Amino acid sequence: MGYTVRIDKNLCMSSGRCVLDEPDAFRFDDDELAEPTTGVTELPGERLNAAARACPSGALRVFMDGQPLQPR
Ligand code: SF4
Repeated sequence: MGYTVRIDKNLCMSSGRCVLDEPDAFRFDDDELAEPTTGVTELPGERLNAAARACPSGALRVFMDGQPLQPR
């Protein structure tokens, strides 16, 4: 199954960190809230984890086989 990425748009504060650091994997929607792109599947797990750790609001989380890798 592998990694899945979820962004809780209710928590995203539009910092732009994920979009700046990994522009092939994340983008802003029309409301300037982050969302994953299809490119997110190409990103290695360590970079997904780095993006999640750098998210200032905890909106971006990575799951391995359904289990969250970042505690909340
Ligand atoms: S790093 Fe987090 S808060 Fe910033 S844009 Fe991405 S999901 Fe939103």
